[in-house]
Amino acid sequence: GILQRFSTAAATEEPITPPVQVNYTQLLINGQFVDSASGRTFPTLDPRTGEVIAHVAEGDVEDINRAVVAARKAFDEGPWPKMTAYERSRILYKFADLIEKHNDELAALETWDNGKPYEQAALAEVPMLARLMRYYAGWADKIHGLIVPADGPHHVQVLHEPIGVAGQIIPWNFPLLMYAWKVGPALACGNTIVLKTAEQTPLSALYVSKLLHEAGLPDGVLNVISGFGPTAGAALASHMDVDKLAFTGSTNTGKIVLELAARSNLKPVTLELGGKSPFIVMDDADVDQAVELAHFALFFNQGQCCCAGSRTFVHEKVYDEFVEKAKARALKRVVGDPFKKGVEQGPQIDDEQFSKVLRYIKSGIDSGATLVAGGDRFGSKGYYIQPTIFSDVQDEMTIAQEEIFGPVQSILKFKDINEVIKRANASRYGLAAGVFTNNLDTANTLARALRVGSLWINCFDVFDAAIPFGGYKMSGQGREKGIDSLKNYLQVKAVITPLKNPAWL
Ligand code: NAD
Repeated sequence: GILQRFSTAAATEEPITPPVQVNYTQLLINGQFVDSASGRTFPTLDPRTGEVIAHVAEGDVEDINRAVVAARKAFDEGPWPKMTAYERSRILYKFADLIEKHNDELAALETWDNGKPYEQAALAEVPMLARLMRYYAGWADKIHGLIVPADGPHHVQVLHEPIGVAGQIIPWNFPLLMYAWKVGPALACGNTIVLKTAEQTPLSALYVSKLLHEAGLPDGVLNVISGFGPTAGAALASHMDVDKLAFTGSTNTGKIVLELAARSNLKPVTLELGGKSPFIVMDDADVDQAVELAHFALFFNQGQCCCAGSRTFVHEKVYDEFVEKAKARALKRVVGDPFKKGVEQGPQIDDEQFSKVLRYIKSGIDSGATLVAGGDRFGSKGYYIQPTIFSDVQDEMTIAQEEIFGPVQSILKFKDINEVIKRANASRYGLAAGVFTNNLDTANTLARALRVGSLWINCFDVFDAAIPFGGYKMSGQGREKGIDSLKNYLQVKAVITPLKNPAWL
């Protein structure tokens, strides 16, 4: 039949025991691990089984207050912004060394709490965390203002100052990398931080923040609060003593935090939100390579990437061949316990996302798209989903418009470049796009025409430290990583003094 079943053996085997212990489950406030003011905890679950990994302190309004007071004091009274930039950079370099030393424990915690393949966490994500910290360590002593010319006899300095207490809210799909994108630039610029982790994945940020203190971070500079969005998250977004807010998550929640920031103290907000990114395969492309890259663009990290190439547009000349080969590739995808060697795909993060993805699959079937592969859960426990492909997807179908955030590839057919530009841009999102072609002119045309913050030509998900990342349209505001990320954490002050009898102006 059309539906080829996947082997369920891997998922029904006993889950592999994670090679790490959970040492930190409390809130990190003013350099100390403490219980929440209410004494409440919440369970964080293993997505392989739905079983409890640990009970974690549940931060709420009072804990956010305590953390902001600590961050405020560390900012206003020092030592952090009063240290030399070189001293700050040395702490970040040392932190990067400690991350490398604890690479495998960090990766194991990340896999246990999130479900991502251990090899991906250990070989790519944790090393990237260390890389990002070194990148920002390098910036710390290279951030400076300007002297600018004036029309009259004035000496004008433009100072770049730290902005103050940064509130940061991160999601669960790349807990450590989202931590790095937020904490790195804020610390390099001399700010203090209250970070709220995602309720699904609180563990790795607590562990790594302990290492940051071992590296010499003064108390109160970074405070980490585990807890839920509408309580702890909203308290942080609306706090009167938080000077800046950085948020990554869904577009709906982005609107909520922007409004909370506006209604409280008008703190500036950067937002990294959702996407429905096109991946465009032209007719001159090598189909085998295009299939492989489009597969990676969508299925990487269980499809839980804000920039996932979730609309695979394929030129009609290569469409049938592409669909056949994409199907073969999806059927070959190795799904199973993420701690097992060679596994490409683990479980979705939790029951809510698992059910949401299955609802989207049903919606695809109901709307008349052709189910080419997968279409169901994988195994009988945990949150595993079969790699799923729909072909004959039409632009107006829900699966072509909304972010699925799961292992579901939608393949759409197009005739020519002008048509695909229009259709690819006909989205309220504008986070990223992939283009696969051997024609330089086609690549250049698409690169300028697509309204997106990241455009990968003949590659995808290349995320180096210096490459800025962020969205057009409803995919966000501002950029993270790269030099652009520093602006989010700096205030600009103009200092003007008269010049008496200057030799020159
Ligand atoms: P979410 O927006 O519900 O959660 C993200 C974070 O916001 C969590 O820490 C959560 O606790 C917090 N939060 C939730 N409600 C809040 C509120 N009312 N006030 C303050 N904070 C609140 O997102 P999700 O559904 O858990 O995660 C998936 C989404 O995140 C996807 O839509 C994906 O596109 C997006 N995402 C975007 C990027 C990016 O870089 N653009 C990266 C990862 C994920």
